[in-house]
Amino acid sequence: GQLGGDLEAGRRHARAVADKLREVLARPCELDGSSYVSTASIGITLFPKDREGVDDLLREADIAMYRAKEAGRNRVAFFAAAMQAEVEERLALEQALQRAIVAGGIDVHVQPQFDADGQEVGGELLLRWLDPARGPVSPARFIPLAEETGLILPLGDIVLRRACQALARLHAAGRELHLSVNVSPRQFRRDDFVERVQELLHETGAPAGSLILEVTEGLLIENWESTLARMQRLVALGVRFSIDDFGTGYSSLGYLKKLPLYELKIDRGFVADTPDDPSDTAIVQAILSVARHLGLHVVAEGVETQAQADFLRANHCGGLQGFLLARPQPLADWLDRQLGVPEGLPLAAD
Ligand code: C2E
Ligand code: MG
Ligand code: MG
Repeated sequence: GQLGGDLEAGRRHARAVADKLREVLARPCELDGSSYVSTASIGITLFPKDREGVDDLLREADIAMYRAKEAGRNRVAFFAAAMQAEVEERLALEQALQRAIVAGGIDVHVQPQFDADGQEVGGELLLRWLDPARGPVSPARFIPLAEETGLILPLGDIVLRRACQALARLHAAGRELHLSVNVSPRQFRRDDFVERVQELLHETGAPAGSLILEVTEGLLIENWESTLARMQRLVALGVRFSIDDFGTGYSSLGYLKKLPLYELKIDRGFVADTPDDPSDTAIVQAILSVARHLGLHVVAEGVETQAQADFLRANHCGGLQGFLLARPQPLADWLDRQLGVPEGLPLAAD
């Protein structure tokens, strides 16, 4: 509508209208004897702008509304040109990721894990994406995008397949190492997830007992019943479960007892400040103590210093993972080393 001659006046008016709307919506209303309160996220864009039609304006208002939702709902947000640039960059990233998946541009690395005696006992698989134009893109950036767009499903398949193939080769060579795979919530909740894992184990001949699935606390809390049932089916196959980034989510200790868990991974945020920071040190000790009482294995992530490793060992932490001990490295190279293939020889792809 017509709100004023200049953009600043228009902005003030639009804001006032939006606030009035929110106020009216926020009044409790009676429905069937119950009282309900609504909130609204409102996006606003102002015009005229150069070369913009109705569709452009609606799209801008939509982008601003999503921004209002992201900012915590029940808010008003104005469209800004920077938002548009961000939306476009995300779209470009999504398309590039899609192309990389199809073209085989996604690689899998492994970060070795060690027991308290310093013996290498297995590793965690980590996705790597080297984009021709962007260079290496951090998983912290593309995993959330993949989760949102559904691309995590083909990505998750790539990692699971590589894990099973590697485990089968290790097993055939008499090397009993385990491999941990990160499983995102959307991947875990797909209807055929249990069947996918079963199929891959069968197809590759990988020993199920050497496959560890890392899930996050958030996954365990939502849809508790169906999550538990699904975990039990996977555990019946022989697969083990680990909670990643333990201590960072909203978890109750009660659920630890009820779930078929094998392991907790102490988030590297806590490990980073041991043994100097008293509260993080206490948190790490508390996690270790809870795990001991529940009979759970523990891996500390992000071990970077000798002092951290010494502290963790002194407190009976069974597993260590971090740059101090080993960096993530290409899975194919690691596997060759484990299988004793001499370096520099041309090798069949795994
Ligand atoms: P995560 O599962 O907690 O993985 C551990 C991350 O910590 C990895 O980062 C690893 O490179 C990093 N790290 C290991 N040791 C150290 C250390 O000593 N110091 C520091 N500062 N960092 C260390 P990366 O590879 O960037 O992965 C980040 C996250 O992306 C992972 O966190 C995981 O949540 C996600 N991710 C990676 N690969 C996959 C995957 O295949 N599937 C899913 N769903 N998520 C994945
Ligand atoms: Mg992990
Ligand atoms: Mg972690």
